[in-house]
Amino acid sequence: MTLSIPQSWGRCPASQPRQVLFCHDRQTLSLPAQPLTCLPFGNGRSYGDVGLNNGGALLLGRGLDRFIAFDPASGILRAEAGVLLAEILALVVPQGWFLAVTPGTQFVTLGGAVANDVHGKNHHVTGSFGEQVLAFELLRSDGQRLLCTPTHNGDWFRATVGGLGLTGLISWVEIQLQRIANPWIVAENRRFASLDEFLALNDDYEARYPYIVSWIDCAARGRALGRGIYMAGMHAPPGVLKSTPPERLALTVPFTPPLSPVNALSVRLFNQLYYHLPRPARGLTPYQPFFYPLDNLLEWNRMYGRRGFFQYQCVIPITEARAALSEILDRIATSGQGSMLAVLKRFGERSSGGLLSFPRPGITLALDFPNRGPGTLKLLEQLDAVTRQAGGAVYPAKDARMSGASFRQYYPQWNTFSRYIDPRFSSSFWRRVMAD
Ligand SMILES: Cc1cc2nc3c(=O)[nH]c(=O)nc-3n(C[C@H](O)[C@H](O)[C@H](O)COP(=O)(O)OP(=O)(O)OC[C@H]3O[C@@H](n4cnc5c(N)ncnc54)[C@H](O)[C@@H]3O)c2cc1C
Repeated sequence: MTLSIPQSWGRCPASQPRQVLFCHDRQTLSLPAQPLTCLPFGNGRSYGDVGLNNGGALLLGRGLDRFIAFDPASGILRAEAGVLLAEILALVVPQGWFLAVTPGTQFVTLGGAVANDVHGKNHHVTGSFGEQVLAFELLRSDGQRLLCTPTHNGDWFRATVGGLGLTGLISWVEIQLQRIANPWIVAENRRFASLDEFLALNDDYEARYPYIVSWIDCAARGRALGRGIYMAGMHAPPGVLKSTPPERLALTVPFTPPLSPVNALSVRLFNQLYYHLPRPARGLTPYQPFFYPLDNLLEWNRMYGRRGFFQYQCVIPITEARAALSEILDRIATSGQGSMLAVLKRFGERSSGGLLSFPRPGITLALDFPNRGPGTLKLLEQLDAVTRQAGGAVYPAKDARMSGASFRQYYPQWNTFSRYIDPRFSSSFWRRVMAD
């Protein structure tokens, strides 16, 4: 059997672990021989290097794949940390339950969702993933097994939620699910012509819908800067439609092209078409295409070619959002380096539970950039300068290049957090942001 080397979703930076250990037994933590450090690896859906440990060992967590308990009366589920959100949905949706928070792919492990304190389209209602976590167990390299809840070992809980896998191996997680009446989504689409219109729409849509996200045309400039499509949804009420949503056939991008077909011209053309495409203002849709539009195109990250790609996700405080996002979008459009995949969303007025959690009140923008070497890195550094100046932050789960100085400004609690790092654990991300 040949095994491919675990990589990040953006496929850059290249990373070569010295050892890969498989975790199957939730009672024990397998450690590499000294002096190698180790890092848990979930399902590799982080874009940059938070899940990489170049020159060290990776603890592959997918083998921790058993459900432990599910109470269909209360919606409390306990499962090993390598279970995928997709596997949880397959179990609980037919029983009238749904994840209280889900990111934009269901191919994420429970452990990875906790370690990045991931967020979803309903942040303004439910907050981030950590808020749904009732308990987990943390295995430390000194043999300790810490049961953590928001109140029991609460400091370990807050360090590990959003803790980037550095505080130890999470062996199992217990979460609270939300009740749903049926698996269909009532969805509404609305085109907006500018960033100002997007900002004006939020209050109205957030009052009416729990799920909200917008696609934006990152190639648009001038008066069209920030134009896009507002997409809102809610779980359909009982009785609207009883049938199970149909299984969707997945396609796979079969190989990695030597050069990326994503370029200034293809992005401009695609975005023009996508923006003007006629779409129903309101309708019913199965939950999968609503929450996970990219999951049906397996290995879509190959489209960015052999050099891979970067994602940039920042959050800007509301008071600064208009000016800072205009500048960021203008720089991206002028550079011609963005991609078709660009989203905008307002985070709610909630504080996240982890010392290093990314979600905080403000507008978050996320988009992909094909890796074109120094030119791309220079552009991302310019975007960082705007984000820093505006008092915002960049998301580590999506990052492969932010400077240590930026990281420490975005995450002022990094020093408190570092006291909880397991001495045998490390990551390429952490060494990078601590180096300068
Ligand atoms: C298409 C797509 C859409 C996405 N949409 C969103 C979104 O809407 N919101 C959002 O927040 N994120 C989003 N993401 C990012 C993704 O949700 C996170 O990066 C997530 O953490 C990946 O989980 P994973 O299981 O693949 O873990 P990995 O990426 O393999 O690892 C992530 C981190 O978790 C740690 N870790 C993994 N398992 C354990 C464990 N058992 N114990 C301790 N630490 C562990 C790792 O060390 C690493 O630091 C998206 C990613 C993709 C590809």
